[in-house]
Amino acid sequence: MFFGRIGCCLSSAKSQSGEKTKPPDEIMAFHEYPVTQDYRISRRVLGVGINGKVVECENRVTSEKYALKVLRDTEKARREVELHVMASGHPHIVSIHDVYKNSYNGVDCLLVVMENMKGGELFARIQERGQKAFTEREAAGIVNEICSAVAHLHRMSIAHRDLKPENLLYCTTSGTAALKLTDFGFAKKTDESEPQGLKTACFTPYYCAPEVLGTEKYDKSCDLWSIGVIMYILLCGYPPFYSQHGQPMSPGMKAKIKSGQYTFPSPEWDCVSEAAKDLIRKLLRTEPTERITIEQTMEHKWISHYRKVPDTPLFTSSNLCDQKEQWTDMQDEMEATLASMRVGPENIQIKSLGDSNNKLLAKRRKGGASPRADEAMD
Ligand code: ADP
Repeated sequence: MFFGRIGCCLSSAKSQSGEKTKPPDEIMAFHEYPVTQDYRISRRVLGVGINGKVVECENRVTSEKYALKVLRDTEKARREVELHVMASGHPHIVSIHDVYKNSYNGVDCLLVVMENMKGGELFARIQERGQKAFTEREAAGIVNEICSAVAHLHRMSIAHRDLKPENLLYCTTSGTAALKLTDFGFAKKTDESEPQGLKTACFTPYYCAPEVLGTEKYDKSCDLWSIGVIMYILLCGYPPFYSQHGQPMSPGMKAKIKSGQYTFPSPEWDCVSEAAKDLIRKLLRTEPTERITIEQTMEHKWISHYRKVPDTPLFTSSNLCDQKEQWTDMQDEMEATLASMRVGPENIQIKSLGDSNNKLLAKRRKGGASPRADEAMD
């Protein structure tokens, strides 16, 4: 299987060079023959992202179904694939099976064959539960799964930096299916030195200057903030910071996030354990220097003893159903906040080149993404 070869290439490249991974061009090896030789590409769309559609495909030999993501072959896309391959293999990270480099109408593309996550997105499943109340113990189990994926990444010096509900998918529709993290489009190796001048670049980080904390800890700390937001939503069905006028990232919203203004309103939070609230407070600290690390999170009793968390029924499912219309606003708000928290070349590009992978920018530009998977195969 091709995945083994890439993994082997990556790790040997790292150990041979001693300190740094080689540039993606040197360590990535792809199949250069057409993906259609190994896979039948379906027209079934599994999801739509900023880079186009993710479609279903079927291995011609095993008839096994997979998800196929097509990316324009850029340095950024190679980094995405490289870091995703490195992280692949963990029980809570979507695995990559094959990567192809093909050309369509003169455009070089990377085609990533991933495990097919048939169970859909995290909150869609909770929303669909109907009468059966979602409980605090179930929430703790989910946060534990997310934390184990993030701990794996942080141990490998990878910050995901785009940890949000849409990137958490279930393997199958079964009630016991594993939840997995995907989309490494903003992932970053945190132990590599920054390009010259980055630390004094025009970009204004959201909370505190990265030089105060060091970019490594700063990059990782935004994953912890994300875990805090997701945990909060899991426990009540609405986000901790939300704009009152339905305007994504209104100035008021920004101010609220910046100053960490959120509450635990009644009645949703009345029965939620103090341990859960304590962990949320530690994850949502506005100062990244004061925010808990992933190791400390794993050691917090709400996570380390997640099976013993009270099985209290929550308002989550019904609130998620009632607030269906506001969900897109919430996604935009979380995305905009994560974008403002990222420190790296992408942000410089957002400002100077307008050539980023930012959904809000793309919405404004309407179009201009890489060839859609189904079109690319035509
Ligand atoms: P982008 O980087 O373009 O935003 P994503 O990787 O987030 O793309 O994928 C877009 C959507 O496609 C996801 O929100 C999800 O609904 C669906 N999707 C992505 N990967 C898979 C997968 N492995 N299996 C099933 N659906 C997937």
